[in-house]
Amino acid sequence: MIDGTRKTIRALRWGMVGGGRGSQIGYIHRSAALRDRYFDLKAGALDLDAARGAAFAADLGVERDRTYPDWRAMIAAEAAREDGIEVITVATPNNTHYEISKAALQAGMHVICEKPLCFTTAEAKELQALAKARGRVIGVTYGYSCYQTIEEARALVASGALGKVRLVNLQFAHGFHSAPVEEENPAIKWRVDPKFAGPSYVLGDLATHPLYLSEVICPDLRIRRLMCARQSFVASRAPLEDNAVTLMEYEGGAFGTVWTSAVNAGAMHSQKVRIVGEKASIEWWDEFPNQLRYEVQGEPPRILDRGMDYLNPAARADDRIGGGHPEGLFESWATMYERFARAIEAANEGRAPDPALRYPDAAAGVAGVRWVENCVRSADAGGIWVDYA
Ligand code: NAD
Repeated sequence: MIDGTRKTIRALRWGMVGGGRGSQIGYIHRSAALRDRYFDLKAGALDLDAARGAAFAADLGVERDRTYPDWRAMIAAEAAREDGIEVITVATPNNTHYEISKAALQAGMHVICEKPLCFTTAEAKELQALAKARGRVIGVTYGYSCYQTIEEARALVASGALGKVRLVNLQFAHGFHSAPVEEENPAIKWRVDPKFAGPSYVLGDLATHPLYLSEVICPDLRIRRLMCARQSFVASRAPLEDNAVTLMEYEGGAFGTVWTSAVNAGAMHSQKVRIVGEKASIEWWDEFPNQLRYEVQGEPPRILDRGMDYLNPAARADDRIGGGHPEGLFESWATMYERFARAIEAANEGRAPDPALRYPDAAAGVAGVRWVENCVRSADAGGIWVDYA
């Protein structure tokens, strides 16, 4: 339980690229990183508009001489300082992730990058190899992955409570972009432009989240082949999709389905993970993240709540307030950032991290990009089965 008794580590000198005023995701990065004082915001190139970025950085308390007009200037200047930043968060649109992350790693910094890590598997593997060679950490912000209920789901599957896993049913299908809202909103416009978004819209932007959750919960499953069909219901979004359905065959016989959409009219997030085993199933829904449904065939369904003593120790470890009081996405992100900090601390000290430390790392970044690449390959060949490359 995080109640002030847990060993804290030195606050890491931290910089941010992107996440400027009004951005969708900047606030939760700062909130998560600063929550338990594992990070100290020392530098920023926060905005495409340098003046707007500088004004915002000043509001956040960043020293004027460490507020930069662009990320290149920031990495160069900070790398030259004795007290320069050790870790950089990349919270810009997708097209910039690869080059900023690469430059930061080359300058000796650890990287926390938004998803998707980059556009191609080859680029993702290059970043992974670079980080390994330099002894640096890459964290990828799959921010739903550090809920206690996800940890409990992982522990239940590992315990054999479900029996052999048969089905993986994933969904992230909201309705917020049912109309061409991008015409009025630049923060949505880049998401449907391949120059900025990459080879996909909802496959990369949304579906990689529950995909990663399924990898956390069922770490032994390996995709053997998949089939994907994607559609652009708002025609101007083509070639990028605003809806897609993917079927996946795993090694060993399990089967998976993924529905992802931005045109699921009327729906909120609708991110769901259902794992079906021979004896029992678990189901998690991100609109009720404090709860995990556990259904044993022939018995009444059970709702497992976070913060309760009956959970597995791994699920209780990151509890902040005990049962009854709801936690949420900000706590999941704060736990994720704490895990990034612990991995970075180990790398800084030249030792391997605690083997129990699980966080969305470079391999998770590679896996997401690889999955999108295979889905697009299948969909663009007419929705055919493709061996998982
Ligand atoms: P946004 O358009 O709302 O904000 C982007 C911010 O980056 C803006 O402040 C912009 O000025 C700044 N920016 C753009 N280019 C820059 C550059 N070259 N240098 C410095 N700043 C720059 O976008 P967003 O929704 O915040 O998305 C940013 C990233 O976060 C994307 O990769 C997106 O996929 C990801 N994202 C992740 C989650 C999640 O749950 N992990 C949720 C939303 C977005």
